[in-house]
Amino acid sequence: MNLGIKGKSAVVCAASRGLGRALALGLAREGVNLTICSRDETRIKATAHEISEATGVNVVAVAADVSDTAQARGVIQKARSAYSNVDILVTNAGGPPPGGFDNTPIEAYDTAHKLTLMSVVTLMKEVAEPMKARGWGRIINLTSMSVKEPINTLILSNTERAAVVAFAKTAATALAPHGITVNSIATGMIYTERIIELSEARAKASGATPEEEVQKMADAIPMGRLGEPSELANVVVFLASEAASYVTGTTIQVDGGAIKSLL
Ligand code: NAD
Repeated sequence: MNLGIKGKSAVVCAASRGLGRALALGLAREGVNLTICSRDETRIKATAHEISEATGVNVVAVAADVSDTAQARGVIQKARSAYSNVDILVTNAGGPPPGGFDNTPIEAYDTAHKLTLMSVVTLMKEVAEPMKARGWGRIINLTSMSVKEPINTLILSNTERAAVVAFAKTAATALAPHGITVNSIATGMIYTERIIELSEARAKASGATPEEEVQKMADAIPMGRLGEPSELANVVVFLASEAASYVTGTTIQVDGGAIKSLL
C-alpha cells in the first residue's frame, strides 16, 4: 500500500522514549520529517539523533513540557519554522499519577487537566487553521483503553482522557470538510520503559520477579502478551497516511483484545 506521506512534516509529542519514540520512528521510516518533543533537552536531542541516523529524515528536537500552553505552542512554531507547515500531529504526554476516588486530592485534577486535556486542545488549535488553509491534515491523539473501560486506580486518567476523546470527536466533525482527520487511539498494555518500571515496582511490593509481574498483566489480555510499540506505531502511521483519508472521528483500540465491550 502506498501511504503517500513521504516528505510530509509531523509533530510527535512526548517522544524521547516509549510510545512517542516508536510512533516517531514509524513515521520517519515512511520518509516523514519530524519535530519531536519531551521535557528533557539531552534526552530528546539523543532520540532525534538516533531516529535521523536510522532513517535519514530531518528530526528537530524541542525541549518542552506540553502541559504548559506557551511551551506546547512553541513546539508547533518550531516545526513550522523548520518545515513551513505541520501536516501530521500526534499528541501524547506522560500519564497523570495513579489514585482512586478516595485518595486523589482536588488540586490533582487541575494538574492532570493541563497535562492530558489542555495539551491536546492547545496543540490541535495551533495546527488547525494552517491545515484548513492547505486542505489536508492528520491528527492522532494517543489516549488509553481506559476511555472504553475506566481503571479503578487511575481516576485522573479516566476522567481527562475521556474528555480528550469527546474533544477529538467534536473537532473531527468541524475539521472533516477541510480534509483534516482526527482520530484517537485507545492504547492497551504496550511494553515500554514505563511498563518495565511498573513491573519492577510491583515486584518489589509482591516479592515476585518483574517478569512474573509482566506475565500477570499479559494473562488479562486475550492475546496472552503485551503489545510491542511498533504494533501501535503501525496503526498510527496508517491513520497519518493518505490511505486513511475516509477514517475520522474514531477511537481505535490497540489492545490485543483486552477491552470486552462491543463498541
Ligand atoms: P513512557 O514513560 O515510556 O514515555 C513517556 C514520554 O513522555 C517520555 O518521553 C517523557 O519524557 C515524555 N513526557 C512525559 N510528560 C511530558 C510532558 N508533560 N511534556 C512533554 N513530554 C512528556 O510512557 P509510555 O509507555 O510511552 O506511555 C505514553 C503515554 O501513553 C502515557 O500517557 C501513558 O500513560 C499512556 N499509556 C501507555 C500505555 C502502555 O502500556 N505503555 C497504556 C495506556 C496508556
